[in-house]
Amino acid sequence: MNWIEEFRIKTYAAYSPVALVNTNDPKRVEQFTLWAIGEFNKVFHFDLFHGLRLIKKTETAIDFEPIKTQTSNPLSLSASNIIIDPIQALHYFHDLQEKKYCLIMEIPSIKPEVLWDLAKDPELFLHEHSIVVFSPNISSIPEYVKDICINVEPPISTLEERKEILKGISKTFKVKTNGKHANALAGLNLHQSQSVLLESIAKNKKLSLDIIAEYKKEIIKRSGVLEILTPLKKGFEEIGGYELVKDFVSNNIIKPLLNPDKARQLGLRLPRGLLLFGPPGTGKTLFARGLAKELQLPAIELLTENIFSKYVGESESNLKKALKLIDEISPCIVFIDEVDRLGNRSETGGDAGTSRRVFGQLLSWLGKKERQAIIIATTNTPGDLDFAFKRAGRFDYKIPFLYPDEDARLAILRVHTSIQRNVPLGKVDLKEVARATQYYSGAELEELVIRAIRVAFRQNVDLVTQEHFDIALDSFRINFSERQQQMQNYLEMAEQLTDDAQFLAKLKQTYADRIELLKQKLGV
Ligand code: ATP
Repeated sequence: MNWIEEFRIKTYAAYSPVALVNTNDPKRVEQFTLWAIGEFNKVFHFDLFHGLRLIKKTETAIDFEPIKTQTSNPLSLSASNIIIDPIQALHYFHDLQEKKYCLIMEIPSIKPEVLWDLAKDPELFLHEHSIVVFSPNISSIPEYVKDICINVEPPISTLEERKEILKGISKTFKVKTNGKHANALAGLNLHQSQSVLLESIAKNKKLSLDIIAEYKKEIIKRSGVLEILTPLKKGFEEIGGYELVKDFVSNNIIKPLLNPDKARQLGLRLPRGLLLFGPPGTGKTLFARGLAKELQLPAIELLTENIFSKYVGESESNLKKALKLIDEISPCIVFIDEVDRLGNRSETGGDAGTSRRVFGQLLSWLGKKERQAIIIATTNTPGDLDFAFKRAGRFDYKIPFLYPDEDARLAILRVHTSIQRNVPLGKVDLKEVARATQYYSGAELEELVIRAIRVAFRQNVDLVTQEHFDIALDSFRINFSERQQQMQNYLEMAEQLTDDAQFLAKLKQTYADRIELLKQKLGV
């Protein structure tokens, strides 16, 4: 149902004289205003910069007529919160007996106690007035206050609306457009969509996907809780080793998603979530970026560390906004690093209430049938994860990312000496280096290559040789026994969490020698 229609029905049913519209898109305000002019006897507008104005429609546009106060202004401001007595404001200038006024407010936030009073005001009900608050921060208003208001959640933008904007702009400026533009704009609101298209025409005299992508990156970053992840240029090729994981994911994730009709015809549910677990630096983020390229989907990171705020209700609001934006951009890949940060249901302590609510919010979103985002969540501590995450259905597969074996280490070294950077190698045996780097993570192998290059640079030579790698190796401090133990723990976790028997068997085979060695060492 259209969001304005939703408002109309609730108002007709006299649910509340106050409506909360969760957006600050000026285009949505404009849509509502145009509709309200035909529905209400008088329509007023209030914002922080212009105060109260009466809206009038002329033949060609809508006009704002400032309302000059004779005595003290019934609308007063305190900090960013508005203390308002709209009845007083409305009656101040107009016939007390008249009915059906609409006051549209475009404000950053409003005090819950003001909303409470307004929603319960018998005068407003009696005169069928409506106060419609447009604000981007509605979700931080306490639930018990929201419950007595009409809540309206317009979409950020629909595909049809974006196509409509594109049609208008391409006609006016005589520029070409195609389906890709409408998709690229997903996640931008109507105002932002229009402005980026105009910016593109001003700069390039055409509609540029690159300019849209840049702008979108900026807008997403501004949300504070989301960030665009750049897909790897060459996809899985840039990930050294982990062949078993790549094969598994290719067969079980990539193929069904690239052939959805075939998968559905066979009754295969499309995969929507992966949980990767393992020590830091083993390439989990890299993998998400690689998958984005393989699936040709945009990738976004949900910045778990930015979700929690000290302000009441803001953490929930942050997550809600982020999830809404993700839904608009979907299908896409959403990377959630250290998903354990989002807490669990049995949380206790100072912020336990907030943590539990945030956790519940994420869980219910993960379980939503219509969710099209593909989640890649990671954790270094799978043992601490709430049971709800481990239960079948939340994540299709749980995949261990362990320290690379020797073949994988060689592949990673090759990635960082040739695919990532063209290192001028002299006489160097990378196999030997791979052998000498047991329990190094991918990130540490990359660091090793960088340190070897630095040594060569210091020596002012043209080629990086074995000697440079040896010096670099000596500079590393890796606690082998600690890592052995870690590895054992992760393998045990893999045994518990990984639900695909064949994959697990192959994984164990890969690490069999190590397990044997470990068992001997531990005397089991
Ligand atoms: P964390 O758990 O700390 O977030 P992570 O497992 O996500 O770590 P990444 O951030 O993906 O690890 O890895 C860090 C860097 O290490 C990568 O950007 C990449 O340069 C290098 N790296 C890690 N694994 C590999 C790999 N398999 N192949 C090539 N490079 C790798």
